[in-house]
Amino acid sequence: MDDRNSTNKGIVTGVLAVQGGFARHGQMLERLGAQVRWIRTASDLTGCHGLIIPGGESTTMTLLLKKYGMMERLREFGLHHAVMGTCAGAIMLSRNAADDRVEPLGLMDISVDRNAYGTQVESFVTYIDTPFTPDRTPLKSIFIRAPRIRVDSTGVEVLATHDDYPVIVKQGRILALSFHPELTEDDRIHRYFLKNLVTVAE
Ligand code: GLN
Repeated sequence: MDDRNSTNKGIVTGVLAVQGGFARHGQMLERLGAQVRWIRTASDLTGCHGLIIPGGESTTMTLLLKKYGMMERLREFGLHHAVMGTCAGAIMLSRNAADDRVEPLGLMDISVDRNAYGTQVESFVTYIDTPFTPDRTPLKSIFIRAPRIRVDSTGVEVLATHDDYPVIVKQGRILALSFHPELTEDDRIHRYFLKNLVTVAE
């Protein structure tokens, strides 16, 4: 185990696993030495130090989270812990998804325009500048039916843009990405999340 992995050893990271692309997030976290807990009920969050909400389909995620009675617990968890949302996960973190079928958690002062980057067949790969990653080389980012993010308050920091639109945003310990960092081999986003946002209580 290298230094990086041993640093993350005591971190229990929940990955919401009711729907969508949770498996690859789990693999990446494990590779970085963090302990992964699949979150399928509200009580699974007990003892987690951080949470990832994966991509998938926000309408389905809404239905399932309501059915399993997880909405309030997720909101409450996000008030006190680091949470990262990718693609549909970013939609769930927003305050406004402009779609009655989606009930976002409202943990971030952002609005989203779902599917604004095109349909499934219009998925694309691009390289974005990420000034907050340690070596500052462009980050491969995969956009799949991705949401466009609009920042609604000065509390939200834009950490990366694509075509002048925000694609990585952060508010306190909540991080939202339009794209899918877990689908590449580049683990800088997950590393950043574990190192800079997740805190392990003494
Ligand atoms: N378009 C999906 C939604 O609205 C998100 C797509 C994704 O997560 N790759 O939920």
